[in-house]
Amino acid sequence: MPIKILSDTVAAQIAAGEVVERPASVVKELIENSLDAGATSITVEVDNSGSKLVRISDNGYGIPAGEIELALHRHATSKIDDVEDIYHIETLGFRGEALHSIASVSRLVLTSRSRDEDMGARIKVDGGQVMDVRGVGAPSGTVIEVRDLFYNVPARRKFLKSEATERRHITTVVTNYAMAYPDVRFQLLTGGRETFNSPGSGELADVIVASMGLDVFREMVEILPLPPHRPDLPPIEVYGYSSIPGFTRSNRAGIILFVNGRAINDQRVTYAVVQAYHTLIPSGRYPSSVILVEMPADEVDVNVHPTKAEVRFRSPDAVFSAVQRAVRRAVIDQSEAPRLRYDDSQEYETARNNRVYSTPQSDSSQLAFDLEVDSPGRFSKEVRRDASESGDDEDYYPHYETATPPHLRTEKQVVDHPEAIPEGLGRPQRPRTLPILRAIGQINATYIVAEGPAGMYLVDQHAAHERILFEEFLAAYHGQNIAVQQTLETSVVTLSPVQARHLEEFQDLLAEIGFTIEPFGTNDFAVRTVPAILSDRNPESVLQLLLQDIESRNAPGSLTVEEKILRRVCKSAAVKAGQVLSHKEMDSLLRQLERCENPHTCPHGRPTMIHMSNNQLEKEFGRT
Ligand code: ADP
Ligand code: MG
Repeated sequence: MPIKILSDTVAAQIAAGEVVERPASVVKELIENSLDAGATSITVEVDNSGSKLVRISDNGYGIPAGEIELALHRHATSKIDDVEDIYHIETLGFRGEALHSIASVSRLVLTSRSRDEDMGARIKVDGGQVMDVRGVGAPSGTVIEVRDLFYNVPARRKFLKSEATERRHITTVVTNYAMAYPDVRFQLLTGGRETFNSPGSGELADVIVASMGLDVFREMVEILPLPPHRPDLPPIEVYGYSSIPGFTRSNRAGIILFVNGRAINDQRVTYAVVQAYHTLIPSGRYPSSVILVEMPADEVDVNVHPTKAEVRFRSPDAVFSAVQRAVRRAVIDQSEAPRLRYDDSQEYETARNNRVYSTPQSDSSQLAFDLEVDSPGRFSKEVRRDASESGDDEDYYPHYETATPPHLRTEKQVVDHPEAIPEGLGRPQRPRTLPILRAIGQINATYIVAEGPAGMYLVDQHAAHERILFEEFLAAYHGQNIAVQQTLETSVVTLSPVQARHLEEFQDLLAEIGFTIEPFGTNDFAVRTVPAILSDRNPESVLQLLLQDIESRNAPGSLTVEEKILRRVCKSAAVKAGQVLSHKEMDSLLRQLERCENPHTCPHGRPTMIHMSNNQLEKEFGRT
């Protein structure tokens, strides 16, 4: 065929594919327009599947009669002027594509009257061709009817699923927006029956009851925004509802996320919600949650995806941490599940000997500990009481040095008794290799200042944690006891042909270390599991680093690939420099370092600490 420019209609039909995939996408775009128009009441009517009819009526400010034709043009929008505008976008729409796209693949009738005008207008468009424009009397607001979706793109029609499936998608869209906008009244009619309505009371609780049912709502606790904990991070507010630990389901579909009023899919944020329940619910079980995240508009890029179902965060870690903290706080504060408490030595002894459970008033030490870790974590997770209160009685530290580190236990062990005494508590301890250190504070979120009998120590938190993880991980590796974590959604990584062959070569070794990686096409690989200590790291980027290590294997004097991978895993899992640690986290880290075989250097040979003896200090201050 000779090269030619496609007609506008064909180009529009092709472009429509990006925005309009199914009737639910029409519903979504039109609801967004109604919300952007300030509507307080939105009615959605569809036939059984939405493919014959979608009709949306709103009481928003309407479209001036003189602009009604323009509204249907491609790139016609009243919402932005400039590309810069989309980086602090306050409206749901901005691409000026929806009406144009929908109109090009359906028979559309738009009737609208602006609040400021006496007369309304109506435009009819069939498959992108304007058939009729006229003035009409109409109530203020907008009604858009979309009939016979994809009537002129039969190939697309074939992709539609059963009526029930399309209906489910439509219902999800409507109930989601109802939750994100509790002060707007929504009504959904399918096949002539009202199947959902929200009262527009402004109460999220009312909408959750309407969309999920009272039985689910009863099992939920409210998430309230926490005061910001780090002035250097952008303000991120998290609120909503999430189920109590005893109420779980077998998949993540009950976790609904909104960012600035937009329903989004985001694996990491979903994972943050799941992580908030760490040790509270078994693995493989998931909460039901409605999580609304609000942040300054310039913190989130919504122009990543034509349907805006995915967004990009400027500070993904801050979002992760905010969501995890808020959900965990809500769940721990408000649920009354029985838990062990270690309030004082006596109670601790009793608990240890008799395994007595009691209901704590609050388990704030665990909470404080968990919450202050930015990325959900490894070394801090199992600390249940404030070690510093017990002086030097080391029997007290129910964490790594006496218990099997949580991340090195098998997943099953962790979850079967989420609140039981950490295992192996009575086991003989590894010998000390450092004197007892006491954490004083943190410098530059990077170094821990500690005091010991022989003076002052400055500990590099990253290097020290790397050392701790390395010794534990190596032991687990040699004992063939590495705990693995399934990846969230299987991540598929596309590699260069050369990388791919490298990977194939070391697939077995990687599997022993906890990376189950399967070919997924010639140069594509699916990462199915990672070592559990990496569960909150992005498997793709870890894999890329591993490949770089593997690729540099022939450098003279370099380590074996096995050694490199083991080191890389621990380095990636270790707490980073720049991460603010709580006092308990610092103490926990020091406790573990004190019993490392080689506490003085990280696995790469850099020092983990600098020591200044009391003598040196006296000399420096001219006291001698
Ligand atoms: P976008 O929402 O990205 O601006 P659309 O194609 O969805 O693009 O809509 C084009 C324009 O039509 C909007 O910018 C808005 O001015 C107008 N519009 C669409 N729907 C409505 C509505 N329900 N009420 C008022 N104005 C609307
Ligand atoms: Mg729009």
